[in-house]
Amino acid sequence: MQKVKLPVEIDPFRAAKRKLDYQGTLEVKRLPRLSEASLKVNSDVDVWLRFETDPLGLVVVQGRALTEVELECQRCGEAFSYAIDVEFTYSPVCDESQVEALTEDYEPLQLNDDNYFVVQELIEDELLLALPIIPRHSLSDCLVKESEQVFGEIEEVVEESKPNPFAVLESLKKKD
Ligand SMILES: [Zn+2]
Repeated sequence: MQKVKLPVEIDPFRAAKRKLDYQGTLEVKRLPRLSEASLKVNSDVDVWLRFETDPLGLVVVQGRALTEVELECQRCGEAFSYAIDVEFTYSPVCDESQVEALTEDYEPLQLNDDNYFVVQELIEDELLLALPIIPRHSLSDCLVKESEQVFGEIEEVVEESKPNPFAVLESLKKKD
């Protein structure tokens, strides 16, 4: 196993053949989409990438990315820090038929014409997917207290509309 610095682009086939293990940092300025999707990206992104070949001969890219962003709470409007820690497993594909052949364990990794992928684009995609759909403080930290929360009331209504499991049992008994 060799540890090498994080390059801009990687050929996963060559990297897997050499069983490369990358560890490095992506600077915030190289992640414009993440900066746009958050109030601020608080720290450079720590990145790990490991390349190997699985028993079936597929090239596998395993990775992890860590950073912290500032998000706006959709309940009280205040900013809060949100830690992102994502892990992912890809296998490179060159066309659609290979995407379909992949097992569920691997995400398809699209390569450019020269069999490379751009590291910062892959990592940024993963970080964006890891953002919460509705960013909110935890209840104890939020400025809007539980009694004032509109979200809570809506959730309660939804719960009530679910079928009561005991009622379902009752109806089964009646059939007997
Ligand atoms: Zn809040």
